[in-house]
Amino acid sequence: MLDRTLIRDLSERESAALDERTPGSAELFRRAERVLPGGVSSSFQLRRPWPIYLEHGEGPRVWDVDGNEYFDFHNGFSSMLQGHAHPAIGAAVAARYARGTHFAAPTEDAVVVAEELARRFGLPRWRYTNSGTESTMGAIRLARALTGRSDVVKILGSYHGHHDTVMVGRSAGIPQSTAAEVHSVEFNDAPAMERLIGRLDGDQRKPACVIMEAAMTNVGLVLPGDGYLGAVRDLTRRQGIVLIFDEVKTGLTIAAGGAVERFGVRPDVVTLAKALGGGLASGAIGMTAELGRFVEDGSVQLFGTFNGNPLGMAAARANLLEVLGPLAYERLERLGARLRAGCDEVIAEHGLPACTVGLGSKGCVAYGEERVVDYSSFERRHDRELAELVWLWQMNRGLFVTSGREQEWNVGVTHTDEAVDRYVEVFAELAAALTRRSSGSARA
Ligand code: PLP
Repeated sequence: MLDRTLIRDLSERESAALDERTPGSAELFRRAERVLPGGVSSSFQLRRPWPIYLEHGEGPRVWDVDGNEYFDFHNGFSSMLQGHAHPAIGAAVAARYARGTHFAAPTEDAVVVAEELARRFGLPRWRYTNSGTESTMGAIRLARALTGRSDVVKILGSYHGHHDTVMVGRSAGIPQSTAAEVHSVEFNDAPAMERLIGRLDGDQRKPACVIMEAAMTNVGLVLPGDGYLGAVRDLTRRQGIVLIFDEVKTGLTIAAGGAVERFGVRPDVVTLAKALGGGLASGAIGMTAELGRFVEDGSVQLFGTFNGNPLGMAAARANLLEVLGPLAYERLERLGARLRAGCDEVIAEHGLPACTVGLGSKGCVAYGEERVVDYSSFERRHDRELAELVWLWQMNRGLFVTSGREQEWNVGVTHTDEAVDRYVEVFAELAAALTRRSSGSARA
């Protein structure tokens, strides 16, 4: 058990230190909150007393408006797998810009990117979007069109963007009729999913689709248990329900072909965004030929002025073909494993009640004694005060990390052993500070 008073004392000290180091962010926040609700562009960026405003980034590093330098392990919610200001992407964007950025007409790059995505994910047809939200929205519409049904099954606690269907229970402003169509079930429990689908079927509400991440990435990192994804695939196939793997976070980051490649289970639809566009807003929906026909014949309309826009496609092409090749994935695996092994050593050395979870470039330290397998076990164990301390501690020691979350990391291809070792060093200092009092009293 960690000492609560110690966690609070340390947080107070670290919070004061961060305030002291970020007066420029404080000043910008005072201006920003007059025009941006909460002073930010997305509610994920909200923070009190003020958010940390960034100024620039290069490779694995970012700098805030006060000139503080950080290794970036937040990586734009894992979008910046290729690192900041990657020269290959910069060159592709500059070349495209000089030849015109937007026509709302297709270009060759859109074809090349789709060919590469089809090869990686084993799904033959692709359409583009500008975000993960648009990708999951289009994916659900496709499933509803194919099945002629409306209901949606999702995983309890999972995040799939901010359109109404996937925000049920998370925001005001969602129509009750939409809320009635969405049903949640715990991750890693195929029998519970089967029971839920059976109940819905009995009520004449068989779902159109199951939308899920193959590994939960918004509650630390929760891996699928042996056989779970295969069981969900069998169940959905048997029942004529479309299986959507939301790979907005896992696609491209945990393997060249995302969760489909890593876990060897092929869904009917894959949704991508984040790391696809090399730092530009870009998303994609991969689908079976059968689903593709609904788009071809015009019965499902997937619109978007900027879908497949030339600038985004040029960046995605360079990203996929020049940056994220086999060597990049070897590097991500190696760095991820080094980081995780370093954290494991720290945990063992200090007897910290925690464990690590890793998957390619992503990973987390999960605190607590109980193994996390789904949202309920995460909630039982999630320690908000400790998460806040971890964030403050890392930010004050040159690690830019995701706020309001578990202790996570996202490494990218420009991260180095130095960056990873710094992460471990900072964690070791925290572990020592957290266990000092209890080990001191044990010795007394
Ligand atoms: N799906 C998943 C799994 C996500 O993590 C996110 C964003 O964090 C989204 C969808 C939504 O993506 P976007 O923020 O690009 O709309």
